[in-house]
Amino acid sequence: MKESAVKKIAVLTSGGDAPGMNAALRAVVRTANYYDIECYGVREGYNGLINGDFLKMGPRSVKNIINQGGTILKSARSMEFKTKEGRQKAYDHCVRLGIDGLVCIGGDGTFTGAKIFNEEFGIRVIGVPGTIDNDIFGTDNTIGYDTALNTAMDAIDKIRDTATSHNRVFFVEVMGRDAGFIALNSGLATGALDILIPERKDSIDELFTNFRNAEKTGKASSIVVVAEGEKLANVYELAEKTKKDFPDYDIRVAILGHMQRGGSPSCADRVLASRLGYGAVTGLMEGKTNVMAGMRSNDLVYTPIEEAIKKHNEINKDLLLISKILAI
Ligand code: ATP
Repeated sequence: MKESAVKKIAVLTSGGDAPGMNAALRAVVRTANYYDIECYGVREGYNGLINGDFLKMGPRSVKNIINQGGTILKSARSMEFKTKEGRQKAYDHCVRLGIDGLVCIGGDGTFTGAKIFNEEFGIRVIGVPGTIDNDIFGTDNTIGYDTALNTAMDAIDKIRDTATSHNRVFFVEVMGRDAGFIALNSGLATGALDILIPERKDSIDELFTNFRNAEKTGKASSIVVVAEGEKLANVYELAEKTKKDFPDYDIRVAILGHMQRGGSPSCADRVLASRLGYGAVTGLMEGKTNVMAGMRSNDLVYTPIEEAIKKHNEINKDLLLISKILAI
C-alpha cells in the first residue's frame, strides 16, 4: 500500500444510537492499529470533540464489544457543533492532538456536521452510516437497521399472539420519523393487514376497506403496522377513527418505542459494521475525504457525503403490494 494519507485519526458516534455502532468502533480501532495509525475515541459525539474528551484507543480498548448494543463512546446531539465557535473549538483540539482524519459514525445529521467541518477546516472526514432508520443513500443497509427490524418483528409476533387470542385489532407503531423501512419490512414479515408509511399517501377509506375485506374472509384479528412518521394520523387517532366505523372491534394500540434501538446487534449488522469500519480507515488512508463508506450489492463503495444526505433510498413499493395480497 502507498504511504497513508493519515497518521492519527479520531472516531466518534453521534446522533441516535444504533446496535452495531460498537462493532464499527472496534473495526475502526483495530484496522488503524493494524496499519500503525494512532487512534483516538471521542466521547459523546461532537460534544467530546468540542470539549477535548479524547481517549487513546488500542486493540484491547475495544475487547468484548462486538456483541454489545448502544455505543461505549456514548452518543449525543450537540447544539454547539452547529455553531462556528463550537466547530472552531473542536478543530483546535484536533490540531493540538495532531488528528488528521475523523471517522463519524451516525446518521444524516452527523454527516451534515462532518461535511461542514471538512469544508471549513480541511480536516479529512469519512462517514459510517449508523442509524436504525435505513434512510441513508449510498448503502443498501445502515448499521443497526437489521437488528431493529428483527426486534420489531419479534415484538409484533408477540402482539399477534394476544391479538389472536382475544380477536383484537392492534395498531402497532414502529420507529421511523421520516422513513418507513422498519414498518414496511416488519409488517410484511409479520403478516400485517395493513402497513402505513410516510413515503406513501395513505387513506382511511383504504384502511377501512381492508378491514371489511378481512372480515369477509373470516379474519378475526388484525395487526396494522404504522411508522412513527405516518402522515395520515398517529396510532391513537387511527384507533379512534376505526372505533367510530367499527364499534364492535376490540382495538388496542402498542408503541414499540426505544426497545427497537437496543439489544445485541444481529449477525448482519456486526458483519456490516466490521466491513464499513475497516473501509472507513482504509478510505482515509487512501486519501478519501468528505465521503461515506457504504455497502452496495455486497461491495464496499464510497459516496460523497453531500449525495448521501440529499438523495434518498427509495422504498420498494412492490413490498406493499405483496403484503396486501398476502395479508388477506
Ligand atoms: P439519527 O438519524 O439516528 O437521528 P443523526 O446523525 O441524523 O442520527 P442528528 O441529531 O440529526 O442525528 O445529528 C447528530 C449531530 O450532528 C447533531 O447533534 C449535531 O451535533 C450534528 N449536526 C447536525 N446537523 C448539523 C449542522 N447543520 N451543522 C453542524 N452540525 C450538525
